Amino acid sequence: MSDCDCSAGPVAAGMKSLEEALALILDHAVSVTESEPVHLSAALGRVLAETVTSRITMPPWDNSAMDGYAVNSADLAGPNRRFRVSQRIPAGVSGTPLESGTLARIFTGAPIPDGADAVVIQEVCETDGDEIIVGQAPAPGANIRRAGEDTREGQEILAPGTRLQPQHLGLLASVGVDTVRVYRRVKVALFSSGDELVMPGQPLAPGQIYNSNEFTLDGLLRAIGCEVVNLGIVEDTLGSTCAALIKAAAQADLVMASGGVSVGEEDHIKPAVEKLGSLDLWKIAIRPGKPLAFGHIDGTPFIGTPGNPVSLFVTYCLFARPFILKCQGVSGDLSPAVVTARVNFDWPHPDKRREFARARLDLDDRGEAWLSVYPSRSSGVLSSLTWSNGLAVLPESQPLKRGDRVGFLSFSELLS
Ligand code: AMP
Ligand code: MG
Repeated sequence: MSDCDCSAGPVAAGMKSLEEALALILDHAVSVTESEPVHLSAALGRVLAETVTSRITMPPWDNSAMDGYAVNSADLAGPNRRFRVSQRIPAGVSGTPLESGTLARIFTGAPIPDGADAVVIQEVCETDGDEIIVGQAPAPGANIRRAGEDTREGQEILAPGTRLQPQHLGLLASVGVDTVRVYRRVKVALFSSGDELVMPGQPLAPGQIYNSNEFTLDGLLRAIGCEVVNLGIVEDTLGSTCAALIKAAAQADLVMASGGVSVGEEDHIKPAVEKLGSLDLWKIAIRPGKPLAFGHIDGTPFIGTPGNPVSLFVTYCLFARPFILKCQGVSGDLSPAVVTARVNFDWPHPDKRREFARARLDLDDRGEAWLSVYPSRSSGVLSSLTWSNGLAVLPESQPLKRGDRVGFLSFSELLS
């Protein structure tokens, strides 16, 4: 049984490895520097541009973790289990010091009164008239949440470069922060090349197909917090392609186009970008998504992906996503986390290129993760992407047997 080899293997002549191409692209990714204050209610998905420190100690005071009775555990050291309730402390109320030999009725989140050092949960207590019979003596400190167990005033709680997820927003709110400084959104202008393309909602003439890439790409970009300028469908002529590129580059941090990146007569991306700026067209040793165009127009970076819908998706995940994350100012590892799982199939004829197969990770009865791949490898089959929940990384030139482990990139990781 072999383990996943996600590192670069030998690469076919004239091709670049994924690692090499990615490093070249990331070298050109410049993080935005401009930032703006946003209210927490609008901060989801934004990237923090400042260090945030806690404004308060949280919780500010020892408080009860349960509904029950606050006690002084020394009062329960002897045989007496019968006590009077001397006060009632709901959440939001500060009690008075606990009268010796009595209990305080207390509720979750309420401050522990001075003189009490434990909370007895109500489930082990019995009411007898005005008195409470405590069934079980608590250990000192039982059911108390300590002041500062979450954060301390002045402590750094979030670092710049953090993409704000719901849990970050909750933490910020919990320490009284209502506004944070975030990097401005990265603006991406996109268009789709192809004379065969028609927008959904329109009738299809013979030979035409619907423009799906525009929606896939728009969704992918918005899912990671980009501002998207959509320039629609651009016809397959050098003039129209140049015009679209100029318009896109003038208003965005990044231009993305799908289709027209090959070197056929109908593919105008390469000559157009070369005319306006500079372009590298790489064959990358991955499947699907071999050709990738990367260049600059008037200083604005350009990424051109294949038109095939699945190639566009995979190329975005592997190249455009890390590029954009770096532009957004996201800190840390920009590559998606790779987990490993066993393949539930034999793969006797591996490709020479590393294959990012549309895959589904399912758990068996014992909780073991297994990968299945979609029956068709065609890069035009979009339904394969809705069937899968990630991409299996099938190493180049390495036959696999059922049970072998390979890498898996989960969509939940790639699409956020
Ligand atoms: P291309 O990269 O322009 O040679 O296109 C490769 C394949 O992808 C062709 O079958 C195109 O029809 C298809 N394709 C190109 N652009 C799109 C698009 N925006 N939406 C759906 N399919 C497309
Ligand atoms: Mg085309």
